[in-house]
Amino acid sequence: MSTDHKAVPTEYADLPPLPLLEEGCRILGLTLTPRQIEQFAIYYRALVAWNERFNLTAITDLENVQTKHFLDSLAGWPPTAGELGVQASAAPRQLHLVDVGTGAGFPGVPLKILLPDLKLTLVDGTGKKVLFLNQLVADLGLQQVAVVQGRAEELGQQDAFRERFDLVTARAVAPLNTLVEYLLPLVRTNGFAVIYKGANVAQEFIDARKAIEVLGGETARMAPLKVPFLEEGRFLLLVRKLHATARQYPRGQGLARTKPLA
Ligand code: SAH
Repeated sequence: MSTDHKAVPTEYADLPPLPLLEEGCRILGLTLTPRQIEQFAIYYRALVAWNERFNLTAITDLENVQTKHFLDSLAGWPPTAGELGVQASAAPRQLHLVDVGTGAGFPGVPLKILLPDLKLTLVDGTGKKVLFLNQLVADLGLQQVAVVQGRAEELGQQDAFRERFDLVTARAVAPLNTLVEYLLPLVRTNGFAVIYKGANVAQEFIDARKAIEVLGGETARMAPLKVPFLEEGRFLLLVRKLHATARQYPRGQGLARTKPLA
């Protein structure tokens, strides 16, 4: 056995091949090394193993994890790189991304596997998700990853998090008008909120326009995403932070959720 494999725990022996992920990445114009593919296979194994104890995700079969979790997460990177004006093949050094409401790590962890130079912070309100993520990060041998248990609307008022990040991602966390109040306070001026949404984003977007403006943002782009092997349409909303967010946002007491800015 090569020393390379000693770091992989024994339960991650005989990892499954991931043909959909490999072909899907080719379609997306992304290249994965054998080590990166191995990391995705370990991720799949960890997800399934932990899901027997904790309910982390409803999607656990190998095909759907490759498409609906891994490729869906990765599909957001080419349009984001385009907006940043960088090559999709590598993240600029020290680009700091926070994934809010990351759950079992989506989209943050697939993006980190794809872009090893990324500095990543994973945020979730739930302790069991944080427990899983800490173990996952260790099993994948990822560097420069912080896992934080907390609510986005509270972290957004703390100096260590407020306006600290170049990119803030979120997938399946909240309706857009609520979500932007969670996300935009965390973004530095000229950074971006990168929001993964399904096909029905149009009405949500209309309802969130005012909130985006109030929070200091400006919609840069609404990019249709074609996730390889998936029929459903997806959208990636890229919101640029134009100027600092006023101090009263994010509001406390759950107001982002119960009384979204309108
Ligand atoms: N982004 C993941 C998980 C979506 S489920 C995916 O796409 O698969 C939503 C997750 O967001 C849950 O894990 C929940 O704990 C977390 N969450 C919801 N609201 C939050 C908030 N205000 N702050 C932090 N985490 C939040």
